[in-house]
Amino acid sequence: MLLEIRDLRVKYGNVEALHGINLSVGEGEIVAILGANGAGKSTTLMAVSRIVKSSAGSIEFGGRALHRLKPHDVVREGVIQVPEGRRIFNTLTVEENLSLGAFVRTDATRIAKTREWIYELFPILRERRDQLGGTLSGGEQQMLAIARGLMAEPKILLLDEPSLGLAPLLVKAIFRTLVTINRAGVTIVLVEQNAKAALKLANRGYILEVGNVVLEDSAEALLANPEVRKAYLGG
Ligand code: ATP
Repeated sequence: MLLEIRDLRVKYGNVEALHGINLSVGEGEIVAILGANGAGKSTTLMAVSRIVKSSAGSIEFGGRALHRLKPHDVVREGVIQVPEGRRIFNTLTVEENLSLGAFVRTDATRIAKTREWIYELFPILRERRDQLGGTLSGGEQQMLAIARGLMAEPKILLLDEPSLGLAPLLVKAIFRTLVTINRAGVTIVLVEQNAKAALKLANRGYILEVGNVVLEDSAEALLANPEVRKAYLGG
């Protein structure tokens, strides 16, 4: 497996948010992490990108121990998180936001190639390249957040609720683009409240409940599972 999380625990102060979870992602997969508010989905991603520290367990990526690295070194390994709430730079232009995403790279020709690919994936960003991030619509900001992540040339992209607050048509468009990105060779981990849409996209899924993995299966099997349907897919 490309990403192997074993017995991972994370604490916020005295409160443990992850109680020893196991989760793995194969190269080329799209894996969904589902669960209610507060289940620990964001914490799992933040532990992988080392934004939060783990208190026990291991996280290996391509055989490298991420749990021993600093966040910027995790980025150098090709592990890129697109955070919830987008966190783009409102006072920088689209183009400047993209350039910041490439901060670990030095090859100008390759960076320009990636930017061109991104503008093909998200033509609206090309149109808006000189506009300030803060003036974009919610959907465009989400596209920019994903695009900025791609500028780092990720091997694996960790997406935290990319559908949050977006109209259904826009969610469809963004999820379609995620498939294109995946086919271009980027492995994807997708944290979502929108379980149905996520499972339609994913190969496999994990269900978290209060800091534990309670179920893992193929996306197909999860979509057909009566318990999952009742709890997460609206019956
Ligand atoms: P959501 O969809 O609401 O983001 P989630 O599944 O991503 O939910 P987490 O955000 O990972 O869940 O939260 C897991 C648990 O850790 C929750 O009980 C939450 O209250 C707690 N928690 C998260 N961040 C912090 C923090 N910075 N300080 C203290 N507790 C936190």
